[in-house]
Amino acid sequence: MSELGEAFCLVCGAPPPLFGERMCEPCFRKRVKLAEVPENVPWVRCARCGIVELQGKWVNISEEEVWDELIQRNLKFHVDAEDIGIAFETRRVSDRHTLIHLQLEGVIDSLLFQEEYTMRARMANGVCLTCTRKAGNYYEATVQLRSSGRKLSEEEYENLRKTLDLVKESLSDDPMFFITNEGPVTGGYDVVLGSKGLARAWGRHLTKEYGGQVVETNSTVGRKDGIDVTRLTLLYRKPGYELGDVIRWRENLWRPASWAKDGAIVERIDRQERTGATWRDLESSQVLARMSEHIVVDLINQDSSVGEFLDPTTWTMASIRLPWDHKAKTAARIARIEGEWIALHSMAIDENVSIE
Ligand SMILES: [Zn+2]
Ligand SMILES: [Zn+2]
Repeated sequence: MSELGEAFCLVCGAPPPLFGERMCEPCFRKRVKLAEVPENVPWVRCARCGIVELQGKWVNISEEEVWDELIQRNLKFHVDAEDIGIAFETRRVSDRHTLIHLQLEGVIDSLLFQEEYTMRARMANGVCLTCTRKAGNYYEATVQLRSSGRKLSEEEYENLRKTLDLVKESLSDDPMFFITNEGPVTGGYDVVLGSKGLARAWGRHLTKEYGGQVVETNSTVGRKDGIDVTRLTLLYRKPGYELGDVIRWRENLWRPASWAKDGAIVERIDRQERTGATWRDLESSQVLARMSEHIVVDLINQDSSVGEFLDPTTWTMASIRLPWDHKAKTAARIARIEGEWIALHSMAIDENVSIE
């Protein structure tokens, strides 16, 4: 007989040691489980692009990460469990079903528990937000590529379009960064995009690289959940001139040296002069010799103001007035302007761009 007041198992009357709510070890183990594990756990994958839905959010994760997530979210451990260890193996049984075999261990009230379970991960097909919107021809913004001053070639439009891919890569992954539609239109090229943010980032890149302006237009197309739904149109006009070209502007010849915030810095060719001009100022300008058409010639004879060289178009000697910054150099950069050769002063950009 146990003495009065001495603890004993409430279930079977066995003497200590006792655990939990006063039970001997066998009774405690019979009544307590380390973990509760559901037999079936569902998950959703986009049938079109393969991304996974987790707690209402679509994420691009691997299958391994899906199993980790399902285990984290579906296992319920005993409130007093400590030193928990989880090991698992998976076995695919069909396209949609994968068995997750679990080996669990943990300590409750100083007793080590080791348990094994099998959980069935059941995949359901869904369609993510991006794919739903793509399928519905959803778009938020249109970027219109155009030019001013001269027509751009197909190749020039292709090069402008390629920069969108660069901009997209440089930004972090966003499911709305997709192209709904694109193609040439009369006088330009249009790209229809899923994201206003991407359209604006591209517009900034274009003006930084090629100069020119972006004009934004917002239009309201409806209302949803009490908020106006707007669409953005970005009209980008690439100037007909590029840095280094020879242009006629206000009766004189100039070369754009760099892009400024609302125009370009231009350098005059026949004397030392540098000035800023707005896009509007430059609208009347005309490209006379593109930088890619300039050539560099060796000077055979020269005095202080005139140089002689072999004209590559006729193979006869020709003379030109030397540029204002000429300091007995042996070569000169020249451009054919309205049937005549004109020597150009040196600009920083000449060092970076090679001449064929
Ligand atoms: Zn007992
Ligand atoms: Zn999708």
